[in-house]
Amino acid sequence: MSEHNHALTPDEVLEKYRVEREKRLRADGTAQYTELTDAYAEFDRDPFVEPGFARDPVIEETDVVVIGAGIGGLTTAVQLVKKGVTDIRILDRAGDFGGTWYWNRYPGCMCDVEGYVYIPMLEETGFMPTEKYAKAPEIFRQCQLLGEKFDLYSKALFQTETHEAHWDEEAERWTVTTDRGDVLKARFIVVAGGILHKAKLPRIPGIESFEGSTFHAARWNYEVTGGGPTELPTKLGDKTVAIVGTGATAVQVVPTIAPVTKQVYVVQRTPSAVGVRNNASTDSDWYFNQKPGWQQDRMWNFTAMTSGLPLEQDMVGDAWTEVYRGNMAFGGEDKTKMPNDQRLLVDIEIMDRWRDRIEKTVQDQETAEKLKPWYDLWCKRPCYHDEYLPAFNRPNVKLLDTDGKGVEAITRTGIVVEGKEYPVDIIVFATGFEAGTMYKSRMHFEIYGKGGKSLSEDWAEGANAHTLHGLLSRGFPNAFLYSGAQGGFATSIVHSLQEHGRHVAEIVSRMKERGATTIEPTPEAEEEWWNWILTGIEYGYDQMKECTPSWLNGEGNRDPSRMKMMIYLGPLRHYSDQVDEWLAKGMPGVEIA
Ligand code: NDP
Repeated sequence: MSEHNHALTPDEVLEKYRVEREKRLRADGTAQYTELTDAYAEFDRDPFVEPGFARDPVIEETDVVVIGAGIGGLTTAVQLVKKGVTDIRILDRAGDFGGTWYWNRYPGCMCDVEGYVYIPMLEETGFMPTEKYAKAPEIFRQCQLLGEKFDLYSKALFQTETHEAHWDEEAERWTVTTDRGDVLKARFIVVAGGILHKAKLPRIPGIESFEGSTFHAARWNYEVTGGGPTELPTKLGDKTVAIVGTGATAVQVVPTIAPVTKQVYVVQRTPSAVGVRNNASTDSDWYFNQKPGWQQDRMWNFTAMTSGLPLEQDMVGDAWTEVYRGNMAFGGEDKTKMPNDQRLLVDIEIMDRWRDRIEKTVQDQETAEKLKPWYDLWCKRPCYHDEYLPAFNRPNVKLLDTDGKGVEAITRTGIVVEGKEYPVDIIVFATGFEAGTMYKSRMHFEIYGKGGKSLSEDWAEGANAHTLHGLLSRGFPNAFLYSGAQGGFATSIVHSLQEHGRHVAEIVSRMKERGATTIEPTPEAEEEWWNWILTGIEYGYDQMKECTPSWLNGEGNRDPSRMKMMIYLGPLRHYSDQVDEWLAKGMPGVEIA
């Protein structure tokens, strides 16, 4: 540990955290960002499809309409097909399967959760990721392979935006309409439209006046930069590029484009905590000689490990799990129950090591100081990368730190930071995604249940969210809502989505077997579920209050009235056990017609 970090006592570190947090708190909270509509609509254009796509409207009746062809919708469709439910329609505004991995094709894009754990259903296709931490094109490819293997392309309508979903009480069917004139009637709908997918921009004065090229990292414009998802950009050799933002996306973009770009400015508001990556090639002998069921075992091991459950073996053994192994040193049996002051000490120890890594890696000590994150480890999503910090040793990479304030302004020709204008040719916004809002905002469509009541109204924009298992909601029969509200969660989000899909496939196939038409939770069951969700609070709700602003805590202005939109913060294992027990008991607490 460096002398510098050693010099601070835990109390001094916490005081520094508080000071840095104060600098970043702002009255406008999440309103500091804008949607990519109206003047910003071009930022949201899909650069990966040919313009001018047209097709005839589809008018039909199916068992299930799945809205969203990302990993949530895709793995649910696969699990439905495996249960014999094959009469499915899948809708997505994207041009293919993949969701996050369809949209995010920026240079260096990869998943920092181990691929053998993260990439869904590897055993189903026999696909081998070439590295422990897979590059985005491989994850996207696996999504396509699942679509091919389970005949899902024939069921998918891409480049299609859902307009509305209406429950027809008499027919006991959902009617889903789209921007392509489709009218799809279905007994069930699965709304798997994404949790972190709606790109956002900071409202920076002058943003529209910029005359160079600009785009959001999640819509990378290869026409401007040259290259492609599997080749380095070819047109940046004489360009100055500003990357706005230093989250997980920027951490991957910066070191990838730096060697092929004339000048890179990294515009930082808050530094990320960047842990060790240690990527490695996959050993195919090991990979293909594992026992059937290996991926499920590995997923559960990683999820249990990263939710703090006591385990004998850490299969993945990386920097994600290290954080929890570190906690073990405190001798806690179930580390999720560790008192907060103890947990803070563990976190400070880890963050000190990560800050020390910066000092040792980045030669210019002024830059190194500015790259140090001063907040509790879990206040922001940690990042893992081995090339990001060394990139600042390149003569063509410059950190423009804004001391927590953000970009001051954008001009016709450049970007203004701390009163100084830096001329640039290209501005890339790596400024993240809308989080924790209602479907209507994140997916641009409304769901109307019994009596024509909208979900936004019924849930009072989240203040009155009510569910059973974070899936079913009274008043919205036969709708499975993957909103994140009151559902299960895992560090590898694919794991929780797959668990939701497993439960949905089980419920739908049981309903079909019984010849049952509708399923809807009782108010009592929803109340009981909410009380159970509250037991998850001990796993970290309060700790976010003291955190530096981020999308995880409503930019520091967490609105208590939105508490019911909270996920279950405890281990996914506990969540799944609850739902499995409910299934084993024959699905009590729901009205089935
Ligand atoms: P983030 O929301 O994490 O980061 C946005 C960045 O933009 C932050 O650094 C933010 O600063 C900065 N920013 C916002 N407004 C301004 C402004 N006005 N001026 C300057 N900077 C500004 O977005 P990402 O796309 O990086 O990541 C989003 C999420 O996507 C991650 O948290 C992760 O869950 C997921 N992801 C996962 C990856 C993986 O490997 N598994 C890879 C990439 C993303 P501040 O911190 O101060 O708000």
